[in-house]
Amino acid sequence: MRLLALGAQGLFDGVAVTRGRVMVLVEGDRIVAVDRSGAAPPPHAEVVELTDATLLPGLVDAHVHLAFDPMGHPLVDVLEVDDDVLLSRMRANAAQALAAGITTMRDLGDARYLTGRLRSAWAGGPELLMSGPPITRTGGHCWFLGGEADGVDGVRAAVAQRVAAGVDVIKIMATGGLMTPGFGVHESQYGPVELRAACEAAHDCGLAVTAHAHGPRGIAESFAAGVDGVEHATFLTPDGVEFNAGTVDRLAAAGVFVGATEAWLPGGPPLPPADAVRLEQCRANVVRMQRAGVRVVCSSDAGVGSRKPHDVLPHGVVLFASLGFSTMEALAAVTSVAARACGVGSRKGRLAPSFDADILAVAGDPTTDVRALLDVRAVFRAGRRV
Ligand SMILES: [Zn+2]
Repeated sequence: MRLLALGAQGLFDGVAVTRGRVMVLVEGDRIVAVDRSGAAPPPHAEVVELTDATLLPGLVDAHVHLAFDPMGHPLVDVLEVDDDVLLSRMRANAAQALAAGITTMRDLGDARYLTGRLRSAWAGGPELLMSGPPITRTGGHCWFLGGEADGVDGVRAAVAQRVAAGVDVIKIMATGGLMTPGFGVHESQYGPVELRAACEAAHDCGLAVTAHAHGPRGIAESFAAGVDGVEHATFLTPDGVEFNAGTVDRLAAAGVFVGATEAWLPGGPPLPPADAVRLEQCRANVVRMQRAGVRVVCSSDAGVGSRKPHDVLPHGVVLFASLGFSTMEALAAVTSVAARACGVGSRKGRLAPSFDADILAVAGDPTTDVRALLDVRAVFRAGRRV
């Protein structure tokens, strides 16, 4: 099998940094060795010299919507556009992400299980993980994606349908959301019994559950029901933000992942003053959760707006670093920690022997300045250069 030797001037392996001459050896689609000694490549290896670049694990975006057009309207998009048009858009969105070094994407809300169709039809893209249509109450957040289910029996049937469709994770809308009128973002859409039924049904089938939850009550009840992850976790109330240290301590102690969907393109129109204050509070809470020991993932929610194109994730790392995460913590939040959150931590998110050869090379040193992530030199997906 072809042996590839990627040479560079440093690497972040998902956890720790090495500066100086490094070489990652790739055989087929796997990493077989990571050399930090400065040794010459094996004589039979094909050398790819990336000179002054730094190597990292390919990035993992744990929360995307491939079917959404960031410049469009999700509701109109999925209700009025046919499958072939959506599939070609999803493929273009995924290709855009891959070019930016995002080699794994977890779709937490598609329509008609199209992410599954895309991944079986396209071998050259990023690794795609999927929840299928999020489970939501009738008329609830993102109902238009087709995941409406009510009551314990309805929720259990919805989980069973997703298991049959081959999903990787169950996504349930515990509270309202920003893009769907009808429920306030802080309002709970399900009670404790439905949330628990979803978790039990999923866990019985070996699947994790991640709950979309903004309101303090929805976050606490999702935790109590046994979810493995919480998306957003903004602690939004009708008129502000109400951080609950007790809930956060419980999330930390249980190892529940929190997906902070804070990757945005810089710029954009100024927010109304009250919204700007809330946004700052939510961002400060991301750091508070991390300091409390929560496994915080940096993700994007790509597709939900014009400042969230599908390659936006590196901007989230820049934001995390500006909030007070160390550069290594911010990088881990899109590599090793994100991979574990997605259930693929044994083969993604690290540069280490036996891991998938999903590798990103960027100019300069992202462990001193994370903006280096925006200067991509090469992307390898399953050992092939993109
Ligand atoms: Zn989302």
